[in-house]
Amino acid sequence: MKEKILQTIYDAFERWSAPIPRVCVKGCSACCTGSVMITALEGEAILRFILQEGLEGWFARCLEGKTPAPAPRLTTNEYAGLCLEGVEGDDPAGICKNSASCPFLEKNCCMIYPVRPFGCRCFASEQRCTPEEAAVLPGYYVAASTAMLQIIEHLGQREYWGNMVDVLLALCDAQRYGTITDCLQERGIIMQARFRTRKAVPLPGLMLLEEEHQRIAPLLSAIFTSRLDEHSIDDILNGRVHVLPHLSEKES
Ligand code: SF4
Ligand code: SF4
Repeated sequence: MKEKILQTIYDAFERWSAPIPRVCVKGCSACCTGSVMITALEGEAILRFILQEGLEGWFARCLEGKTPAPAPRLTTNEYAGLCLEGVEGDDPAGICKNSASCPFLEKNCCMIYPVRPFGCRCFASEQRCTPEEAAVLPGYYVAASTAMLQIIEHLGQREYWGNMVDVLLALCDAQRYGTITDCLQERGIIMQARFRTRKAVPLPGLMLLEEEHQRIAPLLSAIFTSRLDEHSIDDILNGRVHVLPHLSEKES
């Protein structure tokens, strides 16, 4: 069920953002850095893909030998909670910047493209990025991307949240990913990665300005009114129906 909700969010965002002009093309990869934050749900999708494709050895080499990214002090929703209370906090996006190239980028192409997390799907720019010039995007696009990250974190609450490499390593502890773990030279990096992750927390409210709300409303409506197994996503995410398994019900 969580996977279906995640896919609904990906699809709705893609449809909503389609008319926004962007210059991004295959092979343009300056935005593919080690700063991407993910939830466990997105990490599991990547790990399942690695097993399906038989890429365990390659994947283990990607995870190893990287200088760890700074550990986040707040998740997106923790930061939003502080902002909504009027308390100053450090924006996780700024603190966790890691300009090293993403380990899954090879010859300027993403090797896990079909299962890339939302943090990658929303990368975009109206003009070509350069090392000196960052992406240029309308404020409402950035606000919509942040709203999606908040909803995805809500969906993954109580599970790992953090830098992509750390969450993937932390998840490798599960027995079902044993064939990946077996390829790691140094298993101690799994525990170190776990300590750098945080736990995803529920949505405290969206960080939207009034003028942004109108442009983003169709996107939010498309997500929340979508129905899965006879229930609206709004009801599922707000706990009005209990269809999501508790963390403890999952296979370890
Ligand atoms: S966001 Fe920038 S670097 Fe990334 S694909 Fe678009 S133009 Fe290229
Ligand atoms: S996972 Fe793929 S799209 Fe995301 S930063 Fe890495 S190479 Fe780029």
